[in-house]
Amino acid sequence: MIKVVKFGGSSLANAEQFKKVKDIIKSDSSRRFVVPSAPGKRFSADTKVTDMLYACYKLAEEDSDFDDTLKAIHDRYQEIIDGLSLKASLDDAFETIKKDFKAHAGREYAASRGEYLNGMLMAEYLGFPFLDSAEFIFFNEDGTFDAEKTNATLSKKLAGMQNAVIPGFYGSLPNGRVKTFSRGGSDITGSIVARAVQANLYENWTDVSGCLVTDPRIVENPKVIDVITYRELRELAYMGFNVLHEDAIFPVRTAGIPINIRNTNSPKDPGTLIVENTSRKPGFTITGVAGKKGFTAINVEKDMMNAEIGFGRRLLQAFEDNGISFEHMPSGIDTMTVVVHQTEFEAKEQTVLAEIHKLCNPDSIDISTDIALIAVVGRGMKSNRGVAARIFSALDRASINIRMIDQGSSELNIIIGVSNTDFEDAINVIYHAFVQ
Ligand code: ASP
Repeated sequence: MIKVVKFGGSSLANAEQFKKVKDIIKSDSSRRFVVPSAPGKRFSADTKVTDMLYACYKLAEEDSDFDDTLKAIHDRYQEIIDGLSLKASLDDAFETIKKDFKAHAGREYAASRGEYLNGMLMAEYLGFPFLDSAEFIFFNEDGTFDAEKTNATLSKKLAGMQNAVIPGFYGSLPNGRVKTFSRGGSDITGSIVARAVQANLYENWTDVSGCLVTDPRIVENPKVIDVITYRELRELAYMGFNVLHEDAIFPVRTAGIPINIRNTNSPKDPGTLIVENTSRKPGFTITGVAGKKGFTAINVEKDMMNAEIGFGRRLLQAFEDNGISFEHMPSGIDTMTVVVHQTEFEAKEQTVLAEIHKLCNPDSIDISTDIALIAVVGRGMKSNRGVAARIFSALDRASINIRMIDQGSSELNIIIGVSNTDFEDAINVIYHAFVQ
């Protein structure tokens, strides 16, 4: 059994957190490969080390004095060193960083030092070897991730190792310069390492006990999802569900490795298991509810539209020509509705409408704005009658008007449009219709 364990910034924010992490790793010898983030926030008003590094490098880039800012970053690490009584000194590393900043080594190099330094401390603290990700994680010249070269090099290196600490978030370009993934990218590194060692499980340790059925800012204390499929997660992520970097899914998904979201501050909680497929039924029929505000629906009507070949294509062309992507397209016999992001549409509204007139010659165009979309997602809907009925009667009881309905043929989700002002209430009543 091999597990790759990735720890997020809040799990490594200070010495106390490092101790919890060590306990977790040492309690299970299959937790062999460790991917740390940079130290995150110790309290809510705190600043993440990554953000401190960006700010510090900005000064360096402007050739302003950055000594104090860099010292504040050094202090964050020194606090960890002292708290853990480590022998390490980062004095030399910070001298190098200072020199590199003065030589304008790059914003991404700057940000990557957060993970690099944290990885060094973690390696010493655990007694595991440290690998510099710049030597094992590769990007192409155009900045895209080079999955195959990385996998070949990393799997060869790790095959001979019992344990290793591999810092998250960065790698290198063909010219040797450091390049980072986008923010939150240590999740991706963890996934890449899991693929390289053909892990049985990729554990992603954070500060929540898994993915929640819905947004805790809208529903008080929502339940945790025990098992979710990659496809369900994708549907929910699209609606703003934010647990894992989107690009972290691909490497493990293709290798058939499940991801387990776990809580460093509550390590006994089983968390959420993200899998390709499962026979396990979701606990509440639905898996999750998520949504977003700020959509516009353009409703186009034309008598005998159903007999007019190419109508839909021409309608969408009006949006494509203006660089607007459409989110949904429910249709009737003589009507077609295109749902788009309100802000994106507003800027080009009149040009799009003129083009619809020109291309489609409709009888009428009607625009509804301030729509919120809610996705009720769940693999359990397919085999269960009455899911839609439960959603709609719950909304009816709460006197919430439904402005749009869209169910994909996959039966994996039902999308409901309501007014922006009804959004929070609608999420609440849908959640409580399924989770008692
Ligand atoms: N430290 C980086 C960030 O704050 C990467 C990560 O934590 O995943 O975005």
